[in-house]
Amino acid sequence: MKVINGRVFDPEQGFVQRDLCTDGSLIAAAGDGEVIDAAGGYVIPGLVDVHFHGAVGEDFSDATAEGLQRIADFELSQGVMYICPAGMTLPEDQLRAICENTAAHRRENRGGAEVVGLHLEGPFLSMAKKGAQNADYLHAPDAAMLARLQEAAQGAVRLVTVAPEEPGAMEFIRSAKEMGITVSVGHTTADYDTAMEAFRCGASHATHLYNGMPSLHHRAPAVIGAAFDTPGVRAELICDGVHIHGAMVRLAFRLFGAERMVLISDSLRAAGMPDGVYPFGGQEIEVHGNRATIVGHPETLAGSVTSLMGCLRQAVQFDIPLHDAVRACTLNPAQAIGIDDRCGTLDEGKDASFILLDEKDLSVRAMVFKGRRIA
Ligand SMILES: [Zn+2]
Repeated sequence: MKVINGRVFDPEQGFVQRDLCTDGSLIAAAGDGEVIDAAGGYVIPGLVDVHFHGAVGEDFSDATAEGLQRIADFELSQGVMYICPAGMTLPEDQLRAICENTAAHRRENRGGAEVVGLHLEGPFLSMAKKGAQNADYLHAPDAAMLARLQEAAQGAVRLVTVAPEEPGAMEFIRSAKEMGITVSVGHTTADYDTAMEAFRCGASHATHLYNGMPSLHHRAPAVIGAAFDTPGVRAELICDGVHIHGAMVRLAFRLFGAERMVLISDSLRAAGMPDGVYPFGGQEIEVHGNRATIVGHPETLAGSVTSLMGCLRQAVQFDIPLHDAVRACTLNPAQAIGIDDRCGTLDEGKDASFILLDEKDLSVRAMVFKGRRIA
């Protein structure tokens, strides 16, 4: 396959006018067969979402084979081609079921977006910053539990969120790193010094920056200041237009640089569904338009109802340059969980997974997943 007349995403050089060729499932130097005329549109890598909970009525935490398949199918249809869905704060046996379900899905590989791993957003979080997580199942950081879950997942746990002020957190961070798991600081009241120590211990990621952590205060810069001060730490942003004001999105991109931003959808099962009330980690959420809140707590945002593709467009509406927004939805998240050897950019030898976007409204013109045209 050959894509001509496109402006192809390159992380260093911007959008480059060149042909993009595929051979089988990979990007190649030359290609034959189908020719797609991009007509001046953008060619970007398949998106990578490392933090979302569900879509189309299904929640990853329900741990059903059909549910995960439906999520994977929906995400692929949106251009989100590599997914690392997140589990909620739940009892260990339910977390184990989530891990086993992920491992089984990866073994069987029945199509849809590739489930590249899973993110344990809970249960090692702070009570004071639990947000929409269920307080009943919060747990002190526990490396032995993480090891059991990693075994159940057959190595698929890629990301774990921890509140570093909780007892045993620093040891936990070191152990998780040894297991090859990226550690993220989040749902936390940690002050600057505690967060700095967490990053020194090996944490390298911040879970939904601004949300579920102290605000950036000039005398108490907390996690945001510590993440900024530690080169190499990446920061997630929920860019659905509801969770974070546009000025704060622009501020984060300027502060951290586009190479450190990871856009996430944090989407819930209500994504791709009509307004209504939906179950959520043992609680209920209410969805009105773009807002999802915990029933009875209308001030507690519960996650988004926007896919990562929607977040990419929202970032551009917030005046983030398209190139930076694309990078934050592709290469950066791929690097964060160590899968950038095969996705995240459009270099030769990587998966031929890409999206053709209209140059004016960024609508999807065509999609190719692992060398196969899917839209
Ligand atoms: Zn969260």
